[in-house]
Amino acid sequence: MARVMINCPETGESVYTGMTFDWPTFENIKIGERIILCSSCGDEHKWKRRDARLEEDGAGA
Ligand SMILES: [Zn+2]
Repeated sequence: MARVMINCPETGESVYTGMTFDWPTFENIKIGERIILCSSCGDEHKWKRRDARLEEDGAGA
């Protein structure tokens, strides 16, 4: 599985969105606009799938 990450627009740091997918699911799923409470700057950010990337969590795919 992989964690869905975005970059905080304020700090540029990677922020975990709280969503976890495997790669095929992420390719196929429809994700609308989401809002997260950013763990980097503490503000809320809207994001869409094109803003996101997957980061392996090391637990094995
Ligand atoms: Zn932020």
